[in-house]
Amino acid sequence: MSWEDKVRRVVPYVAGEQPKERDIIKLNTNENPYPPSPQVLQAAKELETQMDRLRLYPDMNAAPLAEAIAQRYGASPEQVFVGVGSDDVLAMCFLTFFTGGGKLLFPDITYSFYPVWAQLFNIPYEEVPLDDQFRIRTEDYLNRGELAGIIFPNPNAPTSLAKPVAEIEQIAAGNPGCVVIIDEAYVDFAGESCLPLLAKYDNLLVVQTFSKSRTMAGLRIGYAIGSAKMIGYLKDVKFSFNSYTMNLPSIVLGTAQIRDDAYFLETCGRIVKTRTWFCGELSRLGFEYPEPSANFVFAKHPEKSGEALFKKLREKKIIVRRWSRPRIGEYLRITIGTDEQMRAVVKALEEILPGI
Ligand code: PMP
Repeated sequence: MSWEDKVRRVVPYVAGEQPKERDIIKLNTNENPYPPSPQVLQAAKELETQMDRLRLYPDMNAAPLAEAIAQRYGASPEQVFVGVGSDDVLAMCFLTFFTGGGKLLFPDITYSFYPVWAQLFNIPYEEVPLDDQFRIRTEDYLNRGELAGIIFPNPNAPTSLAKPVAEIEQIAAGNPGCVVIIDEAYVDFAGESCLPLLAKYDNLLVVQTFSKSRTMAGLRIGYAIGSAKMIGYLKDVKFSFNSYTMNLPSIVLGTAQIRDDAYFLETCGRIVKTRTWFCGELSRLGFEYPEPSANFVFAKHPEKSGEALFKKLREKKIIVRRWSRPRIGEYLRITIGTDEQMRAVVKALEEILPGI
């Protein structure tokens, strides 16, 4: 036997391309086109004068950051779990809440990391088909027997479609025997948050991130908000795996970012406005798309190949995301950038469309 026979082999998650070239319009990973709040720069300058603090381990609970998040959302710090991006938070959630037996349910078209974690942690799962308009059907998640759990993003990715909170409430109410996680990575771009439901349903957990609406994908901060009991279980698992995951700069800069609510609301508003304009242009060019609620649009052209469009845009140094998968192969997921970037996309599409 060779050592290789003993290797745990997995098929990893495939992230969007990270181009090396400059002058690229990068609209493939739903990053925010705007810089962090000026308060973050200020906090960075202050940190520069306190480098001695790096000698010490950071707070295991990322306390100042967890407290600022709790304050922002009217929760107690015991209800907040902070991690290295929501990917880290979600992975810990899978390990904590979904390994207790039964099947995990999530949509067939959704965040493609879910099946990867399910496989990593040996969790049996079922990919529940979206309906023909890409909607998550409430009834598919009710009366399903003993489940390991339920998870989906709201708004969903890559469709950008939001599900009304009243429908999500039915799913939480109908599944008291398992944890229901709503991944709200994109909720701040006009979606409706499930956070108010937490007071009523102790099986519900909401996960959010600093990577999209809070303009800090590079810092890696995500968080979960739920009952103190649920967060306690999550911390037990996390502290059994790696205690000090949140580094000091992330804690300090993240705290400054979440405290600047005015900046957050302004940048989100700008993106929503740009999205409205861009959608109008897409319609004018003949594209079809579900009504977007996230910082991206999931669009296809009824007469043009998704693959050809993707390649031609790439030749023009515009990177969007496409999956060659059943049902969605003709679609492009286009992140909303600045007005200038989106004008460049429209111009490129105008040039490309007649020739393919
Ligand atoms: N959930 C969804 C639905 C996402 O699209 C992403 C971004 N890839 C994440 C979670 C993870 O984002 P992050 O780890 O940067 O918080």
